[in-house]
Amino acid sequence: MDLATLGEFGLIEAIRRRARVDRRVWRLGIGDDAAILRARPREDLVLTTDALVEGVHFRWSTTDAVSLGAKSLAVNLSDVGAMGANALGCLLTLGVPPGVDPAHLDGFLAGLLRLAHASHCPLIGGDTVSSPLWLISVTVVGSVARGRALLRSGARPGDRIFVTGELGGASAGLALLSRGGPSSASERRLVARQIRPRPPFRAGAALVRARLSRAGIDVSDGLAQDLGHVANESGVAAHVDVARVPLARGLTAAASRLGLDPLALALAGGEDYELLFFAPPRAGTAAALSRKLGCRVTEIGVIARGSGVHFARDGSDYRLESAGFQHFKPARANSEK
Ligand code: ADP
Ligand code: MG
Repeated sequence: MDLATLGEFGLIEAIRRRARVDRRVWRLGIGDDAAILRARPREDLVLTTDALVEGVHFRWSTTDAVSLGAKSLAVNLSDVGAMGANALGCLLTLGVPPGVDPAHLDGFLAGLLRLAHASHCPLIGGDTVSSPLWLISVTVVGSVARGRALLRSGARPGDRIFVTGELGGASAGLALLSRGGPSSASERRLVARQIRPRPPFRAGAALVRARLSRAGIDVSDGLAQDLGHVANESGVAAHVDVARVPLARGLTAAASRLGLDPLALALAGGEDYELLFFAPPRAGTAAALSRKLGCRVTEIGVIARGSGVHFARDGSDYRLESAGFQHFKPARANSEK
């Protein structure tokens, strides 16, 4: 994919040929001034967007193009999934430098389109511009049964707190990359969690379908911070037993080699893209939920009256030093990025 030969329109035409669109959902995909969604009654539309900037969110020295393409869609699928919605389609704004490496462009599109196909979220439009650095912005449209979305404001006292998968792996992977790279198969798995997140993007919709939950959020900025958003928006307190938090496989060993605290990475490290959700006791045990959602589920705590996030270990308060990542905050206030 040589941009100098293709030009903007040649590139768009190449993308159009590779994007497959479900005509039952989309009346029009790429090719006109805008795409047309066949909206269904009794559903709420859900929209989300996320940008990745070269040098800020990724570096070509530590990522491959296929993973980057998949990640730029995956982070949006994570957000739509955390609303309890099914993804319907995506838009891609792509800013690439004039002398872009054709292999980067080709790999990026391959990674994005493969995940788009696998997640039934076809690429239905976008914009293509010239830019001094790579700039990727993906927007996903989804839908959820009217009034049934999983909200940050939906947690209630008595709800149990559940999280899918495992935590801390992505931030350990980032730390490994910034300190000379992984040195074992187990460390390479942690790096893969950073480079190529695999959010459980169908779990939220399954919770809504079974009417098991009203509240959820994806863990993108660290458990402490994301749980804090839910506590604030719901006007409740979140109590977490840190001994129950599922640590990523290989996290303890990697953290010890790096001189980092594995628990701090699991509680405050970002980019795990797991689903944090809240459900009343009648929703059943973590094991039963795990069978229903088709992924690992761990119960880590409970929602109560009050405010804030409270961590406990062996019955006493556990204090967490750093809270999670925020853009525009001085580096000292952030964890690894
Ligand atoms: P306009 O000038 O009317 O905005 P464009 O030439 O930018 O039209 O886009 C033409 C078509 O190609 C539109 O359907 C648009 O959504 C699609 N498109 C442009 N860039 C991309 C891209 N990076 N990925 C997917 N579709 C794209
Ligand atoms: Mg345009």
